[in-house]
Amino acid sequence: MLPEEAYKELQDALGPENISDEPALLDAYAWQPAFSINPDVWTPRPIAVALPGSTEDVVAIVRICNKHGLKYKAMCLGWGAHAAPGCEGVVQIDLRRMDRILEIDEKNMYVVVEPFAVAGQINAEAKKLGFSTHMISAGASHSPLASSTSGWGCCWDGVSMSWSSRNVMGVEWVLPTGDVLRLGSLDSGLGWFSGDGPGPSLRGIMRGRGGAFGGLGVFTRCALKLYHWPGPTENVPDGLLWDTHKELPENSRAYIALFGDERALADATQEVANEGIGYHSFGVGLGNFLSGIWPHLMRNEAFRKAEWLRKIVDVMQFNWMWLLCANSPGELEFQEMVIRKEVAEHGGVLIDMEQIGLGQPLFWGWVLGSFMGVATRCGVIGTMWGQDEVQHAMMEERVHGGEPIKASGVERGFVENDLPGSGFHFFLEEGIVSHYEEVLWYDHRDRKATQGVRDMVAEYTMMNIDYCMESGFVAGEPELRTLYGPMEHNFHEWQKKIKGVLDPGDSSDPTLYSTEQEFDLSSLSPAEQARARRLIEEKRSGNR
Ligand SMILES: Cc1cc2nc3c(=O)[nH]c(=O)nc-3n(C[C@H](O)[C@H](O)[C@H](O)COP(=O)(O)OP(=O)(O)OC[C@H]3O[C@@H](n4cnc5c(N)ncnc54)[C@H](O)[C@@H]3O)c2cc1C
Repeated sequence: MLPEEAYKELQDALGPENISDEPALLDAYAWQPAFSINPDVWTPRPIAVALPGSTEDVVAIVRICNKHGLKYKAMCLGWGAHAAPGCEGVVQIDLRRMDRILEIDEKNMYVVVEPFAVAGQINAEAKKLGFSTHMISAGASHSPLASSTSGWGCCWDGVSMSWSSRNVMGVEWVLPTGDVLRLGSLDSGLGWFSGDGPGPSLRGIMRGRGGAFGGLGVFTRCALKLYHWPGPTENVPDGLLWDTHKELPENSRAYIALFGDERALADATQEVANEGIGYHSFGVGLGNFLSGIWPHLMRNEAFRKAEWLRKIVDVMQFNWMWLLCANSPGELEFQEMVIRKEVAEHGGVLIDMEQIGLGQPLFWGWVLGSFMGVATRCGVIGTMWGQDEVQHAMMEERVHGGEPIKASGVERGFVENDLPGSGFHFFLEEGIVSHYEEVLWYDHRDRKATQGVRDMVAEYTMMNIDYCMESGFVAGEPELRTLYGPMEHNFHEWQKKIKGVLDPGDSSDPTLYSTEQEFDLSSLSPAEQARARRLIEEKRSGNR
């Protein structure tokens, strides 16, 4: 329970309607089954929920929590367990009242936003001015501030719009002490155009690859890089999902290529990326996709087992899509020429999606982030935690490592059958590295499924280490940070040091940033456990 005095002070600071410790409401915040490796699916219940309306309100909450020895955890849309408390005694700071787009600087190409300004709104306003923003596949209804300052940040537009953490410019940051830090040019009153300097940049302290997941204070505003949008300023298509119809912008195309194997795909797509081609560049997991848009049909075993569908899945196993948005007919001609040449030289087949009536729904679905009506299939979406590596290595790990584990999870009845071999997430970022994830659907109300997914994470982790891959997305989880840290320059030790300096009171929920926990191998067989320990030791000692 929240101490009465603390409750009173929060009420005085925020107003009685913006603070609550009513149990039913608190349970609503603790029900967070997505993106959790904990079979329990309920997260620890917050002791109260506070709704700040301004940076000053956030400062007040942080100071009151520090005074009463309470922890706190910020959240925006709360798309998963990573936004909920990770331990007991946490005040959940729900930022939904701070939802404004504050400024669009057309000259310096950035937009300044508050935490609850959602991607779809920001993107729509930006497009009216000929710009676009990077949008992760959580789609139009997530917080770009959360994604950019605090958690992950990859997606299928990464080839042209990079990765959320690389798009952050100026940032306003309420430190765990309650002090307000303004990163970069902002602090010199020179606006938001740079997140670095004067002097040593703190962007790398704010977050690295994964993010602090609410473990280093609260971000109250940030500036995000805007990218050129060569399309029309009015972008509202008619219809929804498969029924979406709107002409593609001038000089734009939606292509899919089918290859014979992973080698041909990796060679061709990397060559195209080397030419800087692609507005979006990614592989589509057909089964994963069909599960999102035809959830009930995909539950029909006869449908899944249909010979014709199996044939399509096999043909599409090595597919790649390019959305092209060129600035001129000449540029489009060059892009198409390169793609045709590379696909042909690697024995692939290239299909213009407009010719088969799928161009418009796919193009606008991805560009506007409206394809994320997922998690409809059976309750919750999960992931085998993504890694980033060069295209060829990622294809190798996907086909020979990740997919067999997914297929065995389907056989063991842990996860839904979305036609393994086609349940992945795959895209090229900045044309340099690839991101790969096996996406899962499972019934979070079924303990056998949630425990099974936990076991699959252990198997996947060992496979990942065997492939000498980095920790990737999973580095926030205490167990996996403790496991991978010694293999990756002891990043876990550095995070503890940063935490100790910025948050001496350990008040900003440390669970996904500095809390450590031994990796539980118990779900593996004794022989696998022995091999796993040997593998971990070899990797930690650098003999791998
Ligand atoms: C269907 C689906 C698809 C997804 N696809 C992707 C993907 O392609 N790429 C990707 O990167 N992620 C993806 N995610 C994961 C994740 O949900 C997002 O990364 C994203 O953070 C969600 O935004 P949000 O507004 O829900 O943030 P939240 O979930 O509310 O917050 C994300 C994290 O940031 C912290 N946080 C939020 N706001 C603040 C703040 N102001 N100050 C300090 N800490 C804060 C939270 O505590 C939490 O740890 C996906 C999730 C789902 C459900």
